[in-house]
Amino acid sequence: LPIPNLPLSNGTAIPQLGAGVFLVEPGEAEGVVATALEVGYRHIDTASVYGNEAEVGRAVARSGIARDELFITTKLWNSDQTRAADAFAESLDRLALDRVDLYLIHWPQPMFGEALGAWKSLIEIAESGRASAIGVSNFEIADLQQLMDETGVVPAVNQIELHPLHQRRELVEFCTQHGIAIEAWGPLAQGKSDLFERPELLEIAQKHGKSPAQVVLRWHVQQDRIVFPKTVRRERMIENAELFDFALDADELAAIDAYEAGTNFGPDPRTFDAR
Ligand code: NAD
Repeated sequence: LPIPNLPLSNGTAIPQLGAGVFLVEPGEAEGVVATALEVGYRHIDTASVYGNEAEVGRAVARSGIARDELFITTKLWNSDQTRAADAFAESLDRLALDRVDLYLIHWPQPMFGEALGAWKSLIEIAESGRASAIGVSNFEIADLQQLMDETGVVPAVNQIELHPLHQRRELVEFCTQHGIAIEAWGPLAQGKSDLFERPELLEIAQKHGKSPAQVVLRWHVQQDRIVFPKTVRRERMIENAELFDFALDADELAAIDAYEAGTNFGPDPRTFDAR
């Protein structure tokens, strides 16, 4: 699969398309990741809280693919923000890797005030070479500003809920201005909306001989976002990767932009306090 790399501000590069493994059942993740690698994915997005790092690690080891051809992301869970160094070491152990390509703070949890300390630990982890890049997830402008003001280190990415119904334009603009790459989670609105039945989208899809999911993913890709749609089905993995042989024109992009409704399916990052 011809998947382009995007540059990150710290000088590394990330495959623009990956496979996400949130809610892939324990016992199923190893096979799902093995299939993704088999069909050509090289970028896997996991997290300690997903409970499948060990399975991701086994699939990676079994694949025999050279480590430097793979891009592995994992995330620091909320209750570990005051023990990031240890939690990171535990993630590496479960993944059976000696480094990850990207390590993220999963949620800002502004009500606890621990993210800045965690960010300082991630900076040390990056300096040690065990994370090639570091970033954050679900951070709002104020959360990002605090880390940058206090440490001078700009997160390489912000992984946020982003899809046609929830476009976060102000936050995206802020990230773009500061060279923070946008990773869109829930890029297909988690399959929880009527998006794929909307007439304008169906018409665009038909015109290009693509599925509505492919058009929505292409809409992200043309805006330089990184996506890792989740699916456990091999045929959908292939479908979701066939994004680089067509292009949406300005009118088609605008028709999808017009779906903005401020609708999030995940938690509100300002109040999400789960530990
Ligand atoms: P998603 O938007 O990728 O939606 C996944 C769902 O879309 C699937 O369950 C399936 O129902 C449907 N789908 C997938 N491919 C399809 C296709 N080709 N045609 C029709 N339907 C299709 O949502 P997600 O899994 O929540 O997000 C992707 C990844 O983002 C996750 O797996 C995870 O790695 C990451 N994520 C991160 C956070 C965070 O807080 N950082 C939160 C949620 C997800």
